[in-house]
Amino acid sequence: MSLLKMIDEIDTLITNSASIATIKPKLHTLREQTQALDVEVSRVKIKYDELQARYEKAVADWQKQEFDLKQQVAKLQVVDDESATDLCPYCKRRKGKLIDIKPHSVFGNMGVKVEYYRCTNCGKDYDQEKLPPGQIFRRPGSGPLNP
Ligand SMILES: [Zn+2]
Repeated sequence: MSLLKMIDEIDTLITNSASIATIKPKLHTLREQTQALDVEVSRVKIKYDELQARYEKAVADWQKQEFDLKQQVAKLQVVDDESATDLCPYCKRRKGKLIDIKPHSVFGNMGVKVEYYRCTNCGKDYDQEKLPPGQIFRRPGSGPLNP
């Protein structure tokens, strides 16, 4: 029986001038039920506080992770921008970013490489032939190496 129903019942007994002997046991039951409810409320309160603390910790952890990820992204963007330093032949800005290196289609076996760039400013692609370090590239038929 709900506490409110018990109170209503006692109220009716008093209104009808029932004897103390009839009302007293009802009040006793009401007291026991109220005590049990108090214990239950305390348990729920402890559980609630525990869940609240876990929730707040989870939110804090999540916010820290989000912050760390944003910092990592910011660092990567800086690195990405710093690697774009080649002079773009189109817009003439040092915004060319190396995106690939392949052996030259004809002179690859002589160590000649082709570097492929994309400009982070104008978005155009271009490439450059690169000789092996310390070597002078001579086209076939351009004369002997040591005249
Ligand atoms: Zn450009």
